[in-house]
Amino acid sequence: MANPAAMMEAKRKDPGYRPVSERLNDYAAVERQLYDDDVRIQSSRCMACGTPFCHAYGCPLANVIPEFNDCARRGEWREGLEILLSTNNFPEFTGRICPAPCEAACVDGIYDDPVTIRQIELFLIGKGFLNGYITPTPPKRRTEKKVAVIGSGPAGLAVADTLNKAGCLVTVFESNQHPGGILRYGIPDFKLEKWVVERRVALMRNEGVLFETGVTVGEDLSYRFLKQRFDALCMACGAGAPRDLKIPGRELQGVHFAMDYLIQQNCRNSGEIITPAEKIHAAGKKVLVIGGGDTGSDCVGTALRQGAKEVWQFEILPEPPVERPASSPWPVWPQILRTTHAHKEGGKRRWAVMTQEFLGRRGMVTGVECVEVDWKQGKDGRLTGPVEKAGTRFRQDSDLVVLAMGFTAPTPNRIVDDLGIQINERGHIQADHWGMTSVEGIFAAGDMALGQSLVVKAIADGRRTARGIMKFLGEKKSI
Ligand SMILES: Cc1cc2nc3c(=O)[nH]c(=O)nc-3n(C[C@H](O)[C@H](O)[C@H](O)COP(=O)(O)OP(=O)(O)OC[C@H]3O[C@@H](n4cnc5c(N)ncnc54)[C@H](O)[C@@H]3O)c2cc1C
Repeated sequence: MANPAAMMEAKRKDPGYRPVSERLNDYAAVERQLYDDDVRIQSSRCMACGTPFCHAYGCPLANVIPEFNDCARRGEWREGLEILLSTNNFPEFTGRICPAPCEAACVDGIYDDPVTIRQIELFLIGKGFLNGYITPTPPKRRTEKKVAVIGSGPAGLAVADTLNKAGCLVTVFESNQHPGGILRYGIPDFKLEKWVVERRVALMRNEGVLFETGVTVGEDLSYRFLKQRFDALCMACGAGAPRDLKIPGRELQGVHFAMDYLIQQNCRNSGEIITPAEKIHAAGKKVLVIGGGDTGSDCVGTALRQGAKEVWQFEILPEPPVERPASSPWPVWPQILRTTHAHKEGGKRRWAVMTQEFLGRRGMVTGVECVEVDWKQGKDGRLTGPVEKAGTRFRQDSDLVVLAMGFTAPTPNRIVDDLGIQINERGHIQADHWGMTSVEGIFAAGDMALGQSLVVKAIADGRRTARGIMKFLGEKKSI
């Protein structure tokens, strides 16, 4: 830390977003990026804390944040990038879409705004690609150990990348046509453009990772087949079972799960054809998104771009406070009102609303019947409820309803069923500290084991599981 007063002298500067009027006309990334001079100033705001909560508490990857900030402050981009890559396989993903729990734990954030850690990370990896610091680096020595990774989301990619760098021969099986999991199919292009995912996959291919796409393991390939060819198996199939809203009228046409809706737009943006019978589109429609989280916000942004007549987002929980509440003090992740860039583009939100019935005519949804609800908050911040508020019943017209209420269980998988792999009390795959399931040699990583989570946590879990697989293989074991 060259200047201990830098935090007071320089204010936090975010790069901001493209103007709403411009970005609503396309699906390109909405967030801008910082330039060199800004990054030097912003990184100098880091106080190089004796106990860096950002690194030790906030970041699931334990990114060594004060050290890469110090390099960035001095313009030592390559050195900063090396520090970043020592803990994070894919900073170009987290730099774009991580909610940055590191920033919520930044000491600067106690009395002022936290350091723009996520943007500095994105800048460093951007420099790496731009300046040619990142080139394919296959391992110098191969171990001849073969590992199959099922699923190519951030967890599967992190397992594959870490094991490949350690010399294993890794094959990633993916049921979709392109690798990337939710990074590729789910997260809208306006948050993460797909060339970013493709560039990383191409790099991994050039480093020796094999990708077999359009293959559903358990259906197209059996466990028996994999067991004969691989020494270990890692399932990273995600938590793809959506939470449903089983209320009267659920069978009506025009009520869809968020992922079915979002994936179609990703496919359209990539030039893939959607058949008319499958088409889910918001143009000219009154759209209601049920679920107030990030997936719901992604649906709002997508519907606005598609030309919806109006967009509403309903959440059953009460509106969170704007300021960090006493129940989530620094450095924990604050339970506060989050207004995303999509919310700033249009649409309206309502909290503490419970949907009770889908209404329809001739088999098509025409609206929903709702009621306002009350919640009570205990001293520990826990909410009890919901309790229906008398006389608040109302009807909301809608001809496209999108259910964005989270995910309840792992993506169904025949291997799990056939081998009787243990499921934990939360309904996810039971895995030990090293990611090994109840069946020796079969590992699980990411949302499949953690439950619905974050990209940064999926990468961290993938790295830890890869170490578990190496330990297993090092003990001369195989499935
Ligand atoms: C709409 C949406 C937006 C999100 N936005 C963000 C965000 O902005 N920031 C953030 O940090 N997190 C976000 N998340 C959460 C994040 O995307 C997930 O936590 C993360 O992708 C989980 O990674 P994963 O590798 O475990 O699983 P996934 O990304 O779900 O990947 C699993 C992969 O396994 C494949 N698969 C499944 N079964 C098989 C099989 N039998 N054979 C072969 N392949 C199979 C699937 O096709 C899929 O590609 C978002 C989630 C959603 C749904």
